[in-house]
Amino acid sequence: QEYLTRRVLSMQESQTMRITGLANKMKAEGKNIVSLSAGEPDFPTPDHVNQAGIDAIRAGFTRYTANSGIPELKKAIQEKFRRDNGIEFQENQIIVSNGGKQTLANTFLALCQEGDEVIVPAPYWVSFPEMVRLAGAEPVILNTTLESDYKITPLQLEAAITPRTKILVLNSPSNPTGTVYSETEVRALMKVLEGRNVFVLSDEMYDMIVYGGVRAFSPARIPEMKDWVIVSNGVSKTYAMTGWRIGFLAGPKWLIDACDKIQSQTTSNPNAIAQKAAVAALIGDQQIVEDRRLEFEKRRDYMYEALNGIPGFRTALPQGAFYIFPSISGVLGKTFNGVVMKDSADVAEYLLKEHYVATVPGDAFGAPENLRLSYAASISELEEAIKRIRKAFQ
Ligand code: PLP
Repeated sequence: QEYLTRRVLSMQESQTMRITGLANKMKAEGKNIVSLSAGEPDFPTPDHVNQAGIDAIRAGFTRYTANSGIPELKKAIQEKFRRDNGIEFQENQIIVSNGGKQTLANTFLALCQEGDEVIVPAPYWVSFPEMVRLAGAEPVILNTTLESDYKITPLQLEAAITPRTKILVLNSPSNPTGTVYSETEVRALMKVLEGRNVFVLSDEMYDMIVYGGVRAFSPARIPEMKDWVIVSNGVSKTYAMTGWRIGFLAGPKWLIDACDKIQSQTTSNPNAIAQKAAVAALIGDQQIVEDRRLEFEKRRDYMYEALNGIPGFRTALPQGAFYIFPSISGVLGKTFNGVVMKDSADVAEYLLKEHYVATVPGDAFGAPENLRLSYAASISELEEAIKRIRKAFQ
């Protein structure tokens, strides 16, 4: 323990892992757990994508590839950005990595060092602040509320910028809130950053999972920000490919080259077989993405109604991703079965231990009065979960 570096000691352990570990243990003991803690689609990887992986193995496509990804995949990614996001990138502005996670880690390592600040709106995806710390920089957390739909305002952003600010992290649609910034809102935030020498790391992992006619708007579409926006995305969520580990990053060529250098000395190319499968996912029939989106939307509508009907729970209507993030401040401080619920960790533990529903406490996302429920589960599982939660707080 005393041999560990300041770098790793400054990181927090993943709190989501603790509750997931407990849920798995209870499942192994034969308990009937309804799990709403998953960060991945419950759908399988599409058949044609699996087949492309199998074909790659059979064809012997099992060796090192170009460090930054095969040209065929970069072309498919370039086309995806055009088709889905209305952004034009050159192939040399794109790098393929081991999941969205590696693209983000590479970026922070390339751009941040001691003394730098990175603005991270909260509630945030768990890994952002930890990756920033790992790179030696300091996360500056901007809090938002349910009333503001968990969005930061231009005024808030303006007030947070200092000479040390290096990056603003945007994640729209958001994990954990499901919030999606409108085009007008993105433009207003970018206006604040014009001429300020601050980069925007736009994590668009859930860009295709949006509801009710809402479209995710990438800050990379704003010409004035062309040299300052870095887009991270991947195939994990859109194509139910979390285990394949393919993410991609697009932005200024000099930064992509730097990420290429870091990757070449740490992990080398992402998995060759998975790259072939990702090509099939990106250029194949996109109907399956739409079908699944519609299914998620039904579940979202159900969860929104159901959770708002539980006394003590209040939730915004998520516009994207597959999470719902109710405020549970109405049940905090109360005692259930002799246990006082101080924060969301207590509530999540109570729900799991006494009522066999696995959720993720909001503490992990910088929001101790919220609970994250994933609706990447069938409607019947969701109904069962709601029944149990209702009973838990009767
Ligand atoms: N960004 C966000 C907002 C996520 O929710 C996730 C996965 O949970 C990732 C990035 C990482 O994705 P990947 O599994 O491709 O590394």
